[in-house]
Amino acid sequence: ALNSDGPIETTEEVTFTDGKKHILQIFKQKLTSTTGETIGVLGIANDISERTQYEKALVEALEKAEESDRLKTAFLANMSHEIRTPLNGVIGFAKFLRNFPDTTLQEREKFLGIISTSADHLLTLINDIIDISKIDVGQLTINPEAVNINELLNEIYTFFYNANPDLPKREIAFNYTTSLPDSKAMVNADRMRLRQVLTNLINNALKFTDKGKVEFGYNINSETNEFEFFVSDTGIGIAKDKQEIIFQRFRQAYTDITKQYGGTGLGLAICKSLVELMGGRIWVESETGKGSTFRFTLPINAPTTQNRGKVYGYELQELKNLLKGKSILIAEDDPNCMYYLKTVLKDFDINILEADNGLLATEIQYQHPEIAAILMDIKMPVMNGYDAIKRIRSTNAQVPIIVQTAHTFSNERAISIALGCNQFITKPIDSNSLYQSLYSVLKESRR
Ligand code: ADP
Repeated sequence: ALNSDGPIETTEEVTFTDGKKHILQIFKQKLTSTTGETIGVLGIANDISERTQYEKALVEALEKAEESDRLKTAFLANMSHEIRTPLNGVIGFAKFLRNFPDTTLQEREKFLGIISTSADHLLTLINDIIDISKIDVGQLTINPEAVNINELLNEIYTFFYNANPDLPKREIAFNYTTSLPDSKAMVNADRMRLRQVLTNLINNALKFTDKGKVEFGYNINSETNEFEFFVSDTGIGIAKDKQEIIFQRFRQAYTDITKQYGGTGLGLAICKSLVELMGGRIWVESETGKGSTFRFTLPINAPTTQNRGKVYGYELQELKNLLKGKSILIAEDDPNCMYYLKTVLKDFDINILEADNGLLATEIQYQHPEIAAILMDIKMPVMNGYDAIKRIRSTNAQVPIIVQTAHTFSNERAISIALGCNQFITKPIDSNSLYQSLYSVLKESRR
């Protein structure tokens, strides 16, 4: 019923004969005879389906951009907080130690504990930021090797068990299960990255659980031919509508609640990228207030050859015996790092030779064929570690070389192994990994 005299405009959805829906902008005009009677309607239709779609897409893009802006701002504020808190711990308590020399031994122990955990926090944070940046520029590479999962799970369990002595007091039962015999529990994966994903999920589980149970393990899904790993907890849980977005970077389920737990919202985004790079998927099953189970898969495929030197469990005393009277060459340009390495090795009856650049290292090595192992930094002046390894390997295929380096953006580990290094450890170097590597290369070179 066209009541008005002027033209009217409507937008209508019309199904065409081919079954497709189109959006039409229609102008209608009543036609009247000279005597004023209505004799018909004149209509012009304009197909605006495409234009409407563009408009919708534009609005969505704008909303997304605004959302991303909001997230980045929240992230920066959060990050600033996350960085300053541990820095405060390190700087504040280090100053205390210097300025108040008459603090009690007990207090000093406490201060040192805070400095150490704060530094660990900072390190995790920095590693996360580096990982996210690597993912962004497509430089995060996976180095697959044969990994014994039972062994890895045990290692992770032991780590968390020792790092959280308060679990019994918190009434949290912490456990892991394996579902294959050791000899069969092999997966072709990046050991360090697999460990990182599990560690991240277990950290979250312990963080968001007040009491109850935290369990992890794996099962075989014979239908999809995949390993299915799980980390389950009886913690605060995650609402249905948050279960997907938490895997996006910077996203946290409850900003206010999570504040109390700390964190930057990067962990799960990194886990997702890592799992996908290794050919798997990750998801969560959860109910608010009851708990969460994070699951991820890895394809079961024949383990490839090991691409790093074998790692042996070591005994400190045995290592000392093995090293007794031997010479070790340390190539390192940073005086603090050099001092640190020498301190870590100070209780060993060894002769330490020092080089502050790669070229000098090759010369010392050449003059001292008795050297039992070389610790090689990569980024050094005059000649870098890669070139030094190449040069040493051109005349000496035997001498064990342990690369010790600050993880940077290039694929240092793969390059070093390709050039012929035997072990690879990353800075900050923990004394255990150094002992472990030394022990492994010495064992291996005696075979
Ligand atoms: P972060 O823990 O640094 O905030 P993550 O990416 O690891 O970042 O986690 C994102 C969010 O997912 C967390 O802030 C939390 O809201 C939620 N979450 C992760 N794991 C759990 C869990 N086990 N139980 C409850 N909530 C979790």
